[in-house]
Amino acid sequence: MKQQYKFSLGYYLLVFFSIIMLESIFFSGAAVKEISYSHFRDLLTGNRIQSVIVESDRIFGLEKTTAAAGGGTAKESPAFQPPHKKAPWNLDFGLFNDNAQKKAERQFVVTRLDDPKLIADLQAHGVDYRGKIESHWLSNFLSNWILPLVFFILLGRFLARRMGKGVGFLDVGKNKARIYAVDPSQKVSFSDVAGVDEAVEEVKEVVSFLKNPERYTRLGAKLPKGILLVGPPGTGKTLLARAVAGEAGVPFFNLSGSDFVEMFVGVGAARVRDLFKDAKGKAPCIIFIDELDAVGKNRAQGLTIGGNDERENTLNQLLTEMDGFDPQAGIIIMGATNRPEVLDPALLRPGRFDRQILVDRPDLKGRMDIFAVHTREFTLDDQVDFRKLAAETPGFAGAEIANVCNEAALLASRTEKETISQGDFQDAIERVIAGLEKKNKLINPHERQVVACHESGHAIVGHLTPGADPVQKVSIIPRGIGALGYTLQTPLEDRFLMSRSELLGKIKGLLGGRAAEELVFGEVSTGASNDLEKVADIVRNMLTVYGMSEQMPNRSLVEKASSNPFLGQGPAMQRRSETLETLIDKETQAIIDAAYQSARRILDEHRGELEAMSKLLLEKEKIDGKDIQRILGPGRPSESATRTGQPRLAAAR
Ligand code: ADP
Ligand code: MG
Ligand code: ZN
Repeated sequence: MKQQYKFSLGYYLLVFFSIIMLESIFFSGAAVKEISYSHFRDLLTGNRIQSVIVESDRIFGLEKTTAAAGGGTAKESPAFQPPHKKAPWNLDFGLFNDNAQKKAERQFVVTRLDDPKLIADLQAHGVDYRGKIESHWLSNFLSNWILPLVFFILLGRFLARRMGKGVGFLDVGKNKARIYAVDPSQKVSFSDVAGVDEAVEEVKEVVSFLKNPERYTRLGAKLPKGILLVGPPGTGKTLLARAVAGEAGVPFFNLSGSDFVEMFVGVGAARVRDLFKDAKGKAPCIIFIDELDAVGKNRAQGLTIGGNDERENTLNQLLTEMDGFDPQAGIIIMGATNRPEVLDPALLRPGRFDRQILVDRPDLKGRMDIFAVHTREFTLDDQVDFRKLAAETPGFAGAEIANVCNEAALLASRTEKETISQGDFQDAIERVIAGLEKKNKLINPHERQVVACHESGHAIVGHLTPGADPVQKVSIIPRGIGALGYTLQTPLEDRFLMSRSELLGKIKGLLGGRAAEELVFGEVSTGASNDLEKVADIVRNMLTVYGMSEQMPNRSLVEKASSNPFLGQGPAMQRRSETLETLIDKETQAIIDAAYQSARRILDEHRGELEAMSKLLLEKEKIDGKDIQRILGPGRPSESATRTGQPRLAAAR
């Protein structure tokens, strides 16, 4: 890369300087001696000039030969005879011809001054004079047009390379998609994508459409034009697309929605046009637009903030192009987004991204497979159990599991061990959930006691609340940003639904920390801010989203963007009325108060255990499920043991 850059820069410099040199040789008359005007006058009055060519700003002249001038100073001594004259072979190229030689010596050039008598004097001294139509066009052309052009091209190239892109000024409207070069060392295949088997199957099906369209169109079916990968961040949408690039065996145009968004008006639309033009030339092929939401945002939403014409133009162009090509053309457009809700509805209509493929967070089995994929190159301990690891990471997306595997390898390589153990993975999971341990962060003894008490409160309430998740670990080692301690509860299995009582149990557990502080120290601290935030979120969702309110049961109170923004020039949101807000506020407080009292009661009843656990924590810094069971007994059997858990891992701080 660097080599090439040097070469071409050198190349341009070479051309540049050659042009300058050529110009000076041909057009400045350097080969002819320059004399002063007074000398020229002397020559003229001394009758020593044979002929002149008068230009507008200079005069070329030829002196008479010394013989003709008579009594000149020129020497004709034999010593000045060119040596080759004596050579036996008597070469004579004309250039070395005696006359020619002398003629060159006799030529001169003089800068023309404003001299009204010049012509008269030339006439008087019998000089053969003539004017000349000046032909500076070549030199003018070179110096006024070519040189600046060369200079700017050079500069442009140089800057473009400095910016690390192969794009110059002239390429702004060119599409940025490059055919995905499949680097053999980084080739991704479908086997690298785990845990999202349905999505993989659907994508494979679409790829097979491309390869043998006849099989599908035989019965009159239309091929899908666009498929949209939808799912939370880190679930492998980009990875899946790369696998398609690696396995489809057709050209793959890869670009990101943000590539269309430029500061120049019209560039986005031009890029889209260019992209489709290129793609048509390469069909059958796949166009992949990652982060589609960057171009595909709902146009209607723009209206309220004054509109973003440039983005709108780009989107319109995209829609037009998608409509414009024949479904038989063999072009499939893939998009990916983790915010399908912001996409313009026009993008999702039939004939555009009419197929949506959900790339969801993996389930237990899927997580096991992803652990397997990402540890293929590792040397693992015999006891490493993917099932256990998967059970400890509910709600993790593929990217987080990849991160856990890498952290585990890093942790293991710090020690002398040859293999990576289950413990390394468990530490890595904790680290990914709660951040790095900060063992040497200094905390004063009183604060440590408060933290130990707070975390014990979470653990005890969590352990003793029916339906809550088992407490896995309690730690008072500060971690990450701002967490002084944490309590880790993991569900036994993946959850997709939660009951009202489970949510209430969760709220109780979160409030247990603060309740314990109040019970033991008689006052509360700032340490519960994160817990309170989570509690507020849960309660609000219970009341407004899940219809779990007692006063307004079964009623969704979600604030929505009004469904037809073209009609509604008024408020874009359907807002809740003030009375409704007041009701929600009151009920929120009531739920929180009840949960807090309930947590206080549990802790009151188990005051002895609370103190024992705090003491143990202060001693060991970290206790696990077994310690907790020793102190508290086996805990209450879950009311809904078959359905316990939660969609995401909870770490109460
Ligand atoms: P997305 O585009 O959905 O946000 P990515 O495809 O960029 O997520 O995922 C980031 C990384 O996480 C991938 O490069 C891969 O290492 C890992 N990863 C994510 N999902 C999976 C999966 N389903 N199987 C294997 N690895 C995955
Ligand atoms: Mg992505
Ligand atoms: Zn807490």
